[in-house]
Amino acid sequence: MAAPTVAVIGAGYAGLACAVELARAGVHVTVFERSHTLGGRARVVHKGGHWRVDNGQHILIGAYSELTRLLRVTGVSPKQLLHLPLTLHYPGRLHLQAAALPAPFHLALGLLRARGLTWADRLAMLRLMRRLKKAGFRVDAKMRVAELLADTAQTPALVELVWAPLCVAALNTPVEDASAQVFTNVLRDSLAANAAASELLLPRTDLSELFPVPAVRYLATRRGRLRNGDTIEAIHPVADALGGGLRLQGDPAGTPWHQVVIATAAYHAAPLLASTGLCDDLATAIERLPHEPIVTVYLGLGAGQRLAHPMIGLTDGPAQWAFDRGQLGGPEGLLACVISAHGEHEALSREALVDATRAQLERQLGRPLPVPEWSQVITEKRATIACRPDVFRPGIRTPVPGLWLAGDYLASDYPATLESAVRSGVACAQAILAQLPAR
Ligand SMILES: Cc1cc2nc3c(=O)[nH]c(=O)nc-3n(C[C@H](O)[C@H](O)[C@H](O)COP(=O)(O)OP(=O)(O)OC[C@H]3O[C@@H](n4cnc5c(N)ncnc54)[C@H](O)[C@@H]3O)c2cc1C
Repeated sequence: MAAPTVAVIGAGYAGLACAVELARAGVHVTVFERSHTLGGRARVVHKGGHWRVDNGQHILIGAYSELTRLLRVTGVSPKQLLHLPLTLHYPGRLHLQAAALPAPFHLALGLLRARGLTWADRLAMLRLMRRLKKAGFRVDAKMRVAELLADTAQTPALVELVWAPLCVAALNTPVEDASAQVFTNVLRDSLAANAAASELLLPRTDLSELFPVPAVRYLATRRGRLRNGDTIEAIHPVADALGGGLRLQGDPAGTPWHQVVIATAAYHAAPLLASTGLCDDLATAIERLPHEPIVTVYLGLGAGQRLAHPMIGLTDGPAQWAFDRGQLGGPEGLLACVISAHGEHEALSREALVDATRAQLERQLGRPLPVPEWSQVITEKRATIACRPDVFRPGIRTPVPGLWLAGDYLASDYPATLESAVRSGVACAQAILAQLPAR
């Protein structure tokens, strides 16, 4: 029998996780990617010159078990990620850092030592964590984060400085809309987990170099192939009489594949599914998924400009977080300021956003900043799906035999993140391997 052929559409984190996992099991896999840059929504965008940046600052947490495993599989040095204890630092307002102790002592001691929290704040945080733990980290599936916070009488300071920013950072959805269950899952694996799982992991390299480039190198050593610059326009199931399989329009070879994984963003998966003529309901449901944007304002402030921590929280302005790329392997004085989800900032021009973000930083740092030598505003209008309780997240299977879905928007314990993307890719690979004849 001819060796099974597998094609993956999309060289983002989901598609490459799937391809690596298949290659690891000895399957020769081909990845089609429309772009010449690897990584999809987690990629480098500005290669030349002094200021090399990603399409957006990304944070990983220690609980990203599948992504960190695949980084090891593909030979990525652990030094590519800076490990920081879970820290919330708002200049002059709050400093909360998890202690290097097993749970729950890392949080308990962190709360005891925290600066900027009253006893009422500390007790409210413990109340929420205790309530979630007692309920086995299960809440009503329809509940939103704002209701969970109100039900457990969280203080205004905690909501402003801890819960709302953590929710929008992790779920890319504001507390009023966000799913309390998914937020609870994130808390279970961060604040309530052991110190290592709750660590923040900040990439020291760009996002294409972190995993996608090593993944493609790994594939090359296992007879896997990358075809970048090839856009797959449609998928046509081939009649059984002709041997079956799925023909990809845009594949220069034109031979049908036994198994195909659509590992694109939801908005690209929907038309591909529809093109089969056999998945209309699924394609329509995916097409309707609501999305939230993320804007990253890069400010190249130049030498001598440094934040007190690699990552600080910001209030009263467009940005929610600022990252000091100079402390993360980037050029000195480069700040990445992140604005997650919909908001008033969407009405501002690029120039106005740069000015508003710089003014916000000056207010919060309490010192004037130089006029940026360089700046860039990167808007990802459909950065992730909105993580609301009523949002439909499909599984990896489709109605077409041999056709699979991978991507961050698929059903997952986690919000649409790198870890959800990678987990869906690995799940697809495992399902495909289970169907292949024993080798
Ligand atoms: C600005 C920003 C900040 C973020 N911050 C975080 C964070 O801090 N932590 C976190 O965990 N996650 C974060 N995310 C989310 C994370 O980036 C995504 O969840 C993840 O990258 C999605 O990966 P994916 O493989 O599912 O999809 P994608 O990355 O979208 O990959 C799909 C790939 O398919 C390709 N493709 C599409 N159509 C075709 C076609 N027809 N033919 C061939 N190729 C095709 C695309 O070019 C792309 O490379 C952030 C996202 C953004 C945009």
